[in-house]
Amino acid sequence: MVLGCAKNHVDAEEMAVRLEQAGYTVSADPAAADLIIVHTCGFIEKARRESIRALMDVVSLKQDAQKQKEDEREDGTGSPKILVTGCLSQRYPGELLEGIPELDGLAGTQAPRDIVDLVRRILSGERVVEVGPPGRGAPGTCGGEISGAPGLRYRPQSRPWAYVRVAEGCRRRCTYCAIPSMRGPLVSRPLEHIMKEVEFLSAAGVREVNLIAQDLGDYGVDLCGKKLLPELLLRLSDVPGISWVRPLYVHPDGVSSQFARAMARSKAVPYVDMPIEHGSARVLKLMGRPGPDRIRQAVDTLKEQVPGIFIRTSVIVGFPGETRRDFEETMELLAECEFHRVAVFGYSLEEGTPAASLPDRVPPQTRVRRIREMQHLSTALSRQSSLRLEAKVIDVMLERPALQEEWWAGRGVHQAPEVDGKVFLRIGPASKAVPGDIRRGRVSSPGLLNLWAREVAD
Ligand code: SF4
Repeated sequence: MVLGCAKNHVDAEEMAVRLEQAGYTVSADPAAADLIIVHTCGFIEKARRESIRALMDVVSLKQDAQKQKEDEREDGTGSPKILVTGCLSQRYPGELLEGIPELDGLAGTQAPRDIVDLVRRILSGERVVEVGPPGRGAPGTCGGEISGAPGLRYRPQSRPWAYVRVAEGCRRRCTYCAIPSMRGPLVSRPLEHIMKEVEFLSAAGVREVNLIAQDLGDYGVDLCGKKLLPELLLRLSDVPGISWVRPLYVHPDGVSSQFARAMARSKAVPYVDMPIEHGSARVLKLMGRPGPDRIRQAVDTLKEQVPGIFIRTSVIVGFPGETRRDFEETMELLAECEFHRVAVFGYSLEEGTPAASLPDRVPPQTRVRRIREMQHLSTALSRQSSLRLEAKVIDVMLERPALQEEWWAGRGVHQAPEVDGKVFLRIGPASKAVPGDIRRGRVSSPGLLNLWAREVAD
């Protein structure tokens, strides 16, 4: 069971492959399992509650199984074991062990690397608690050495896209963020390992790779003191079979002319997810983030050098000390930069972060009111961006046949997986299509996130 972000999903794939390579059978059905792994998220309050809920569901499943076994055999053995891993257990091991005595094992963010040993010990009856320093070195490694990577990808489904994690952890210290305390310092994967993994994925039918890290723009700084994302984009464009490369989560300080040029000259789609978090210079300073001028410069660089660029972003509303004027400055900057999509988050007080001790907390009802206002703007910007595509001919990567005959569901370059909606494309009756095909469609009706289009000849 995996909660949280795309990085956690890549972790879960790695754990599944390592366990299968060690001879275990991996099942998606907790009721059929001898051991259930719950890979958690500890990012913000809302995500933590979701992880706890998932854990409690598994605990009641275990209790039901125990009761059933007791009825049958009077000794309660044979019920599933529970191992909790990931960010929540990295951050709150003591609280989890105390609050959920039914746990048979607890491990932190290094668990994907050590999963075989953890499972073997728990199944042999040991109650295992392993929480090391946050993070675990580069993904796919075993204490730095390579073990079976790049094949540590679990490909049960035939979806033509995949997330590829290029680094773990973060070297920045945004004052509201607890991620470095869970995921550790920046550790980049050697470029050659990423190349091998993408070749492996391409051979497995993947046509779009979505590059992920806490801060993609910083990729490589720990390896050789320079930002390697531009080089990575150009190198990935040489991998046969890969059509699209999508950079997700680039800090504004990671946007340079070199990066934008590499975007324009490679198989990178004209799309970037660049969180700005706020629009007020005063609040951005309190957050430890780049100011509005640096944000404008990053946006201008992308718009000038990457034709047709779509920029997704995210903002935090209700940061301590945020005044009405600060909030309005954020709205103004978003409208001025015409962001394609805006994800809106309410400030979540994270204990142990510098922002948690800042004065002048924004009252909850004010925060909720501002979130609603910001979501109105976000919707308007999304609609505006979709309307600009009306009657335009766009590339669509096909993902699966839609319910209606002759229609396929897919995505355009402006749509990242799982967050930006779909394109429903009508293709000719005789047209043979497979997932990963890229077809051209003229947009007939733009919805807020989804688009409808008809295939046009090349
Ligand atoms: S760059 Fe992202 S992950 Fe790193 S500290 Fe800032 S918000 Fe957290």
